[in-house]
Amino acid sequence: MTHCSEDDLILHYYGELPSQRDLTQHLDTCAECAAAYQAIADTMRLVAIPDVPGRGDAYGREVWQQIRARLPERPAPAPGTTPEDPIGSLLSQLGDNQQKPAPDGQAPK
Ligand SMILES: [Zn+2]
Repeated sequence: MTHCSEDDLILHYYGELPSQRDLTQHLDTCAECAAAYQAIADTMRLVAIPDVPGRGDAYGREVWQQIRARLPERPAPAPGTTPEDPIGSLLSQLGDNQQKPAPDGQAPK
């Protein structure tokens, strides 16, 4: 095996190298690459990876508030329904469509 590239050593540090075993064996036998890996590992340990903050209880509401303003206006509710009854409105519209004849004058199937 030729000497390890810096990229391979970094990937090895994060355990993301497909052939970890080959590189590990090389590091065991090559003082030059082992020293380079140690230097990279020492540097990588200085880079603190911050914890990802958890989502608060208001996360869903905050996302909704951001999306809501970009949504198109809702169509007016069907007659006989209230805006607070979207299921009833949808069922009403479905029922209306089933009672109407098809555009070609035949009964719907
Ligand atoms: Zn080497």
